[in-house]
Amino acid sequence: MRTVREVKALRGVVAAWKAAGQTVGVVPTMGALHPGHLSLIAAARAGADRVIATIFVNPRQFDSPEDLAKYPRTEDRDAGMLAVAGVDLLFAPPPEAVYPQGFATSVSVAGLSEGLCGAHRPGHFDGVATVVTKLFLMTGADRAFFGEKDWQQLQIVRRLARDLNIPVAVTGCPTLREADGLAMSSRNTRLSPADRAAAPALHRAMSAAGSAIRGGTPVADALARARQDILRAGFCEVEYLELRGAEGLEPLDAPDRPARLLAAAWLGGVRLIDNIVVDP
Ligand code: AMP
Repeated sequence: MRTVREVKALRGVVAAWKAAGQTVGVVPTMGALHPGHLSLIAAARAGADRVIATIFVNPRQFDSPEDLAKYPRTEDRDAGMLAVAGVDLLFAPPPEAVYPQGFATSVSVAGLSEGLCGAHRPGHFDGVATVVTKLFLMTGADRAFFGEKDWQQLQIVRRLARDLNIPVAVTGCPTLREADGLAMSSRNTRLSPADRAAAPALHRAMSAAGSAIRGGTPVADALARARQDILRAGFCEVEYLELRGAEGLEPLDAPDRPARLLAAAWLGGVRLIDNIVVDP
């Protein structure tokens, strides 16, 4: 596996692949890799001739300098994992290669970016949309692979590719979970042992709420119960817990179309997110 840090070198490698008639898949990440990321790499290998992984801790999508500073950075270990997983090229640019001096453009996806995480993390999704657009244009990938773990992000990425006529097919991949149901996340390493033991309560309460809603319990009642269970387990705050239309993310008070139950909650200074399908 080759590692490149400059856009020019990246374009050179991709141009040679395309000249040879090969398709290119990209898996954008912020590093600190876990099996969830590797499942995206496996999907990319199955869906494209060549695979690029990117590692870039994007300063524009962090809402606080402390969170950016605390984000785990483990590039050497990550590169070893990616090489073993069969990645052809690692693109790991420094911030100035992505945002050169004078950078002034922002991509903003109205509507989809506004509720849920967007309501609590001002500017976050503009940062995500801007960097993903740049990664699509810099790599020229034919296919891109994103996790359903970040469901709102996945819908935003699909929409920006469509709206901006970027010729990339976006594939969503299922959330990988620990044996106890906790969604794998780079942030889980920041949980204390006691909080790690409490963390699966989020998914457990969401699953119970999803079953109750499917079984006819009013949405508001099922969500109130789930909130209570999450807080009783030791979470300090449930930032949001909502039933939304799966693609348009419109608020739902009944599961009358394909839906997702989405949540963000704080546990000992760590913000965890999760979502599950709730189909009619
Ligand atoms: P991140 O490094 O957190 O920005 O994540 C990079 C990609 O990996 C995103 O598309 C995430 O949705 C995806 N991802 C993160 N955690 C998981 C997981 N547990 N299962 C599947 N995909 C994931």
